[in-house]
Amino acid sequence: MKNYLTFDWEEWSDTASMEGWNSSATSVKILQSATERILEMIRPLSATFFVLATRVKEHVALIRRISKDGHEIALHGLEHVPMSRYSPVRFREDILTAKNIVEDITGVPVIGFRAPNFSMTVQHRWALDILFSCGFKYDSSMSLRVFRDYSRRGCLPIREVPRSGVGPGMLPLPFGGGVFLRIYPYAWTRSWIRQANACGERSMVYVHPWELDASWMKVHRLPWRARALMGSGVAAAKERLSRLLKDFLFGSIRDILDDEKVNDR
Ligand SMILES: [Zn+2]
Repeated sequence: MKNYLTFDWEEWSDTASMEGWNSSATSVKILQSATERILEMIRPLSATFFVLATRVKEHVALIRRISKDGHEIALHGLEHVPMSRYSPVRFREDILTAKNIVEDITGVPVIGFRAPNFSMTVQHRWALDILFSCGFKYDSSMSLRVFRDYSRRGCLPIREVPRSGVGPGMLPLPFGGGVFLRIYPYAWTRSWIRQANACGERSMVYVHPWELDASWMKVHRLPWRARALMGSGVAAAKERLSRLLKDFLFGSIRDILDDEKVNDR
């Protein structure tokens, strides 16, 4: 069974851990080189890249290449803004602006969205309605706990691909990406994906380009949050991703949902 292979495509200085820090003080940029490394590693698979539209404008040729290589370009936002800071009006404006930027460059409709930090909660039902009305086919912005809460209430207006988690009830342990992929022993992640697949459930892997090129760690006076949250286990990230690619089947969210539709007919 195929699992979802996704990348949150952002510069290291875009993350929440870097907030308030004067990132213009550094010229260290890893997005281009780390993305080239990713494309090399994942060939011939297809993956979903959740992109920040402001960064897309700086890397037009690279985005065209990712799209032409058969990968899905989905949205991570116009900028790295968590859902708690959005009003419905501004969310709609930003989403439409970002969608247009990406579609003008690739010529391919954007159908997926992932909020920064998986920050979609049950308070943001309005955002799911906006995504649906703007032509999105799925959202991938929820923790498993929030997804279970929505499912219990039976009020999801759009297909959701939540972050993977393990454990029953309202406190599942997240796994499969980010700091969780880096700090858990690899055997745990492998076992949880195997268990999910054995029950007919796909897992979702998510990786950031800055986890595959940690040269930003050498930047002077990084905030402690960045060292703690982004730096922990970062040396292991590349090896973890390589092992996952060997141990499991993967595809982009768009391709997997398309396959499911064909099989439903
Ligand atoms: Zn992000």
